[in-house]
Amino acid sequence: MNEYDSNRILDLIKKIKYEPTQNLNEANCYILNTCHIREKATDKVFHEIGRLKKKFRNKPKPIVLIAGCVAQAEGDILLKREKYIDAVIGPQSYHKINDTISKLEKQLSPIDVTEFDVIEKFDSFNTYKNTDNKISSFLTIQEGCDKFCKFCVVPYTRGPEYSRSSTELIMEANQLVENGAREIILLGQNVNAYNYKENKLSDLILEISKIKNLKRIRYTTSHPKDFTEDLIEIHKNCKKLMPLIHLPVQSGSNKILEAMNRKHTVEEYLKICKKLLKINPEIKFSSDFIVGYPGETKDDFKNTIKLVNQIGFINSFSFMFSARPGTPAYDLVRVDESEAKNRLIKFQSIAEDIKTSYRKSLINKTVNVLFENSMKKENRYFGRDEHFNAVIVQSKQDLTGKIKNVKIIKGNQNTLYGEITLNLDQTNYAA
Ligand code: SF4
Repeated sequence: MNEYDSNRILDLIKKIKYEPTQNLNEANCYILNTCHIREKATDKVFHEIGRLKKKFRNKPKPIVLIAGCVAQAEGDILLKREKYIDAVIGPQSYHKINDTISKLEKQLSPIDVTEFDVIEKFDSFNTYKNTDNKISSFLTIQEGCDKFCKFCVVPYTRGPEYSRSSTELIMEANQLVENGAREIILLGQNVNAYNYKENKLSDLILEISKIKNLKRIRYTTSHPKDFTEDLIEIHKNCKKLMPLIHLPVQSGSNKILEAMNRKHTVEEYLKICKKLLKINPEIKFSSDFIVGYPGETKDDFKNTIKLVNQIGFINSFSFMFSARPGTPAYDLVRVDESEAKNRLIKFQSIAEDIKTSYRKSLINKTVNVLFENSMKKENRYFGRDEHFNAVIVQSKQDLTGKIKNVKIIKGNQNTLYGEITLNLDQTNYAA
């Protein structure tokens, strides 16, 4: 989501004649877009500003803005502690960035812009073209969260759930496809909570899939509670929808899920996966896990391992519980750190084994790859298969934006290598 926001900020500041530069030394305005989801986020900001100060030691300082969730959550601390920072601007106030920069051009006194103006923000985004021209482009359709998981900062930094107008989104999706996108990844903190005047995520997917030159659609991140029947069904009805579902579960223990206020049980989670697999056995799952959440016993942890083995997630993103200031979980009694670390190591080793055997099973198989870009090494192209696995092939023909059948020859944990067999561009992708 920060990548999408950064692109929109770049489009916006062009209106006041600023252009992106690849050379930091020549910047006269510096915007750092930040994420607050993990520990030490604020320290990282101070570290970055320290580096910036060194670079500009013998020159006039640039205008310095800190954007994103760290600005939202800890903006006052940033402004108080680091005088080099001129303004903090929260994620729901990006539409005010040009005004903020213009003010700072005239008088350099610190500015705090951290109101929740999400409607105004998207109204403003809708007034100028999205110029992102990647083959795989992000499109934020929903922001914020009403779920209040006890460990999470999002409801406090991004505010309540808000869905953008479907008409505006279809317009922006068309712009992205005109710019060259062949895949659109629909984004939201709770993407499947999308609901604009009774238009749900499934309705939006169906509408967007009608865009002629768009070949693939993905969405992330979903919440099990909002995984409704219509969304399950759309995986049968929309061939452009890719068969990888990122569905965070966080724990395999109902006791811990309740303590986290996740609003779903393990059984409900399994039921969703089962229904999806019934519709399409090719569907694979990835998930997020918190290991060592306060109150997690050895048995709770065993249940998480059981779930991982049962589903066989092709990607598991796991983290040790990290207490975020301002969240209800911050004050809870924590699991002993070395015990939590050991559990994380065990979890990651099991998740890696599952991933390794999945990736081995792909050798000699043929997958459909959408190629996104050429690589520095001559004649090499990078793309992703339907399950979002990174694939590299060699080709004398420019493959950018094309879908090809690729036979996988070898691979490691991050990348698969293959050779092209049959061109799929003629495939009928009708929704
Ligand atoms: S549903 Fe996701 S974004 Fe919302 S509070 Fe829970 S973890 Fe955070």
